[in-house]
Amino acid sequence: MSAGLLEASDLVRHYQVRKGGRLFGENATLRAVDGVSFSLQPGRTLGLVGESGCGKTTTARLVLGLLPLTSGEIRLEGEVLPATQSKRWRDLRRVMQMVYQNPLAALDRRIEVGRQVMEPLAIHGIGKSKAERRDRAMAILESVGLQAHHFIRYPHELSGGQRQRIVLARALILEPRLLVCDEPISALDVSIQAQVVNLLLDLQAKMGLAYLFISHDLRMVRQVSHEVAVMYLGRIVERGDPDRLFTAPAHPYTQALVSAIPVATRTRRQRLILKGDPPNSVDIPAGCAFHARCPMAVARCRSETPALRALEDGRQVACHLAAAS
Ligand code: SF4
Repeated sequence: MSAGLLEASDLVRHYQVRKGGRLFGENATLRAVDGVSFSLQPGRTLGLVGESGCGKTTTARLVLGLLPLTSGEIRLEGEVLPATQSKRWRDLRRVMQMVYQNPLAALDRRIEVGRQVMEPLAIHGIGKSKAERRDRAMAILESVGLQAHHFIRYPHELSGGQRQRIVLARALILEPRLLVCDEPISALDVSIQAQVVNLLLDLQAKMGLAYLFISHDLRMVRQVSHEVAVMYLGRIVERGDPDRLFTAPAHPYTQALVSAIPVATRTRRQRLILKGDPPNSVDIPAGCAFHARCPMAVARCRSETPALRALEDGRQVACHLAAAS
């Protein structure tokens, strides 16, 4: 296997807050991300899934240096990433780019899209002349399925799918090796989503890009990912091969998520409804953080926190009772 592109070790992001949001309330720790580790190889995709507030987006922001780590370490091609304020981040941004959920919000409505695609080249001092940067922008627009006439259009004149292609072109023009995609298709019409996903897969095959792919759309995550990690209250509770994970989920939380995926067959699948909402990240219960909602919980779950452990089929699961099936 080739050297790891990205190695995240025991990432922690905590915030000190006042309980209940009150000005004079008791101090408390909000555990947004609480000991997350993963690695990503060139040309591969790691899908991150979980309910809203589980720490997926915070993990992405930590990887991109948009938030400081409370503790832990991130290595990119073997180099430990510096503190977020370091000047080194200017160069690192060439290697890692973000693709946002809402393309219209990521683009400036007042500027022609071609100029927006060229802008990162000027910021990083790439290209000897404006003409060279323009040629590069034209080439990258073509590689994401757009034409020369799109260069002089404004974002509001384009469709949602075309705008997301522009966002991709702007990210790709610096020839990054990693794209962090945070819900990259959720703002698009269903008919356009598949086109953008196919484009991401094509670009990965051609350019050897790695993706950290965050989405609540589990079917899409299964389609694009080489590995999937399921997060619950700031921790990974199950990780492994997408086909195994989606056909025989081992963690009760993953089982509930998978049971909620709509199926197009006549076979009815029993939906597992979890009790209540996830606890607040300030009040994470002792033992297994999932125990209050877990239909399989036993006494041990209320006092002992399960560590991620490997099952016989290679998956990793943080549950006292989980077994490969
Ligand atoms: S450790 Fe216990 S509470 Fe947690 S997921 Fe497993 S069975 Fe459920």
